[in-house]
Amino acid sequence: MSSKKNTRVSAAKAETEARGETHYPGPSGGGLAAYPPKERWDDWVELDSKAWPERVEKHYRLVPTTCFNCESACGLLAYVDRETGEIRKLEGNPEHPGSRGRNCAKGPATLNQIEDPDRILYPLKREGERGSGRWQRVSWDEALSDIAGRISRALREGRQNEVMYHVGRPGEDGFTERVLAAWGVDGHNSHTNICSAAARAGYELWCGIDRPSPDHARAKVIFLVSSHLEAGHYFNPHAQRIVEGRKNGAKLIVVDTRLSNSATHADYWLAPQPGSEAAIHLAIANHVIQTRRYDREFVRRWWNWQEYLAEVRPEAEPTFEAFEQALSREYASYTFELAAAESGVAAETLREVAEVVAGAGTRLSTHTWRSATAGNEGGWQVARTLFLLNALLGAVATEGGTYPNAWNKFVPRPIHVPRHPEKWNELNWPLEYPLGMYEMSFLLPHFLREGRGRLDVYFTRVYNPVWTNPDGFRWIEALTDESKVGLHVALTPTWNETSFFADYVLPMGLASERHDTHSYETQDAQWLGFRQPVQRALRERDGRPVGDTREVNPGEVWEENEFWLDLTWRIDPDGELGIRKFAESKRRPGTKLTLDEYYGYLFESSVPGLPEKAAAEGLAPLDYMRRYGAFEVASDIGPLHEREVPAAELEDVVEDRFGRVYTRAAAPAPANLAPTGAPAGDGEGRRAVGVRVDGKILRGFPTPSGKLEFYSTTLARWGWAEHALPGYIESHVHPSKLAPDQMPLISTFRLPVHIHTRSANAKWLDEIAHTNPLWLHPRDAGRLGLATGDLVRVETEIGHFVVRAWVTEGIRPGVVACSHHMGRWKLAEGDGQRQLMATVALERSGSKWGLRRTRGAAPYASSDPDTARIWWSDVGVHQNLTFPVHPDPISGMHCWHQAVRVRKADPGDRPGDIAVDAEKSTRAFEAWLAKSRPADRHSPDGTRRPSWLIRPVKPTPAAYRLPVK
Ligand code: SF4
Repeated sequence: MSSKKNTRVSAAKAETEARGETHYPGPSGGGLAAYPPKERWDDWVELDSKAWPERVEKHYRLVPTTCFNCESACGLLAYVDRETGEIRKLEGNPEHPGSRGRNCAKGPATLNQIEDPDRILYPLKREGERGSGRWQRVSWDEALSDIAGRISRALREGRQNEVMYHVGRPGEDGFTERVLAAWGVDGHNSHTNICSAAARAGYELWCGIDRPSPDHARAKVIFLVSSHLEAGHYFNPHAQRIVEGRKNGAKLIVVDTRLSNSATHADYWLAPQPGSEAAIHLAIANHVIQTRRYDREFVRRWWNWQEYLAEVRPEAEPTFEAFEQALSREYASYTFELAAAESGVAAETLREVAEVVAGAGTRLSTHTWRSATAGNEGGWQVARTLFLLNALLGAVATEGGTYPNAWNKFVPRPIHVPRHPEKWNELNWPLEYPLGMYEMSFLLPHFLREGRGRLDVYFTRVYNPVWTNPDGFRWIEALTDESKVGLHVALTPTWNETSFFADYVLPMGLASERHDTHSYETQDAQWLGFRQPVQRALRERDGRPVGDTREVNPGEVWEENEFWLDLTWRIDPDGELGIRKFAESKRRPGTKLTLDEYYGYLFESSVPGLPEKAAAEGLAPLDYMRRYGAFEVASDIGPLHEREVPAAELEDVVEDRFGRVYTRAAAPAPANLAPTGAPAGDGEGRRAVGVRVDGKILRGFPTPSGKLEFYSTTLARWGWAEHALPGYIESHVHPSKLAPDQMPLISTFRLPVHIHTRSANAKWLDEIAHTNPLWLHPRDAGRLGLATGDLVRVETEIGHFVVRAWVTEGIRPGVVACSHHMGRWKLAEGDGQRQLMATVALERSGSKWGLRRTRGAAPYASSDPDTARIWWSDVGVHQNLTFPVHPDPISGMHCWHQAVRVRKADPGDRPGDIAVDAEKSTRAFEAWLAKSRPADRHSPDGTRRPSWLIRPVKPTPAAYRLPVK
């Protein structure tokens, strides 16, 4: 901090103290009293802005909760008017260690969502055919009895695989995964394969942990492959730490084909040809290797180089020196000239950037998520080659380096830990993708079409596959076919394109209307955040108990956790199926578990230090969390891999030839908790406890070798030996694979003020951003005869969409881009969310589908006078409908980038038009499926999937065995 600023802060502090007030000391370190001191949260006074120029005091009670508008889980403070009892605004919670009082625009806009005049307030059941748009209000009791009855029948009849839960934004750490495990159902499905599967694969293969935790604030060099200052993981918490790092002198390198907000702040903005990112990383790595700038000791101690030599170079001496020679040879061909030819970025620029990286030493923080990893075939190598830079420099779990995420988050043990399901669900985990990171969710309609199975009860929760996934028309076909999907239950706080094709639409709470816990890797620390229903917390604080959260929420809006407990109870009312016990109170056996008991137990029993901290304030742990909303469990975690294994754990162990140490006997399967980077096993049920390094047995990494896996034995043994090292795979949109008139389309980037389809009900955000024009470089615009505002037809492999052009130098020539979130639609005027959804007509003739806009957004009368002031009508285009599925054969990631032809629109084209031939999408599915190497032909050990790889709701070891033919 500059001395000038220090002086200002001290003066402000002195003034505050002179008034007899406390200078706020919270984790924000905010200097000036930027936040209400927690001692005054019960009666916080502000002048009413609307009463100006009169000075009218407003008194508030401040109640913490957690934002639900993206995965970052920033803390919020709800300002509840003491007079009316209404939430008047939501701002940052300074007690939250991750977000430290800061939010992005979407946090405060939670208020719009609460007050949205179009929100769903009551349970609805469809009338007529699915998708008819006719609904009747039903009671929760009726809906729950119907759903529970169907699930109960399916479980009793051995049809466990016909129950599926498909989640977009979980917003919690494993509650629902445990509900499914309690039901004995392997039916967890997520959106991971359209989001982060490839990035996860890159990290998992190195560390056994599938996310990074970069320490941006203390870095010397920050290297980002994505737009982290507007939409990255974890957006606001990371963005503020990147800014902090910059203020401390860090250099910022941003690799992004498009000029993102991050790129505008960068010291080096590299805008490469999409898909060439790994080649850039490898050229930098090669420079570090050839100039011998890598951390020799770190590489010697922590890479699995002995395995590499044994498997790949058995003729070599098993010495580190021999490995160094081999390493040098492996990467010598990745010159700056090669990377320049692939990426289009000048070799001299790459050399300069490589020097900056090499100079970072152990203070190199790197991060990639979605973006290039999610766009390209082989995108997982973008993450693997980026982490190679950390692994070379020893910038792993160091100050200013990059940590495995599980070390920087905290997952408490809940009151009940259920069993492992006994049946493997091949609809989610097909044999073709044994190494897929999470479920092959976006292929579901194709699998149902092929007759691989059917669903009796299908939940979508805060998920909108018709809009979000590629190939949305195939989703509509599946969801409207009752022989494929027996009952579709949409759990959602707001209308979306998928809920129109549901049988039940059940209203779920927003950020201030539900419970959850969270912990994310925002810095080298472990914290736990608590989302809670604000009105309930206040009522209980006043000694007025609440039966369930519906009592205090608008209409009959509920929350998922109480819904799941009730449903679980109804599925097995007498306990005969062995399920009810997981929804039962421990305090009062025979009665249903309440959330007060659930969270009371959690905070009391499994969060170290919280009971003591709460007691110091005369509070029970649950009351402490209800009052402050977050707790830091530990800070400065450091390098866990270097910790010595205690002697007591080494009493009966065996060691393999590379020093991996296992329990001698098979260990019981670990509890079915959310993934925490638990130790790997050896495939025979023995648990890995550590790894020998220089004579000591250390914790190591949860990989098969216990080391960082430069060489992946898993890839080699499961049929992908050619990709066992960090390397470069040519993308499906590599220039050599494009026709002369084709260009890559980047469709994955977010806008800073929206999140997928969840923020359309926030009027402030809609006013800022409501459409998604096609980014086009002036050179391409000139070639195509286009100007900003012109209508453009973009032709994909299966159809086309029509959109307006935006000519900008903020994108690489020869590439076009179109953002996420927009092109929202509804089928009838009255339905849905009217601020950001156009009304459309769906047309179908055989396999040909079309979507035409009949009306854009328009002003309307409602309880909110602002809806009469809507001035925008164009809400963009739903481009994802025109994308076929592109499953990466290794990671399973949908590879989003498209090869497209761009031209002036035809005379009859209108903004938002869509045309698709679903037959072509089936052919694309088949072509990509043919690239896979299925487990029944490539498994080295008769299992479906390596047991050590992360997987939500792991089934029993027996279920991992391949079916006997
Ligand atoms: S980054 Fe923004 S949207 Fe995400 S949790 Fe934080 S405040 Fe909410």
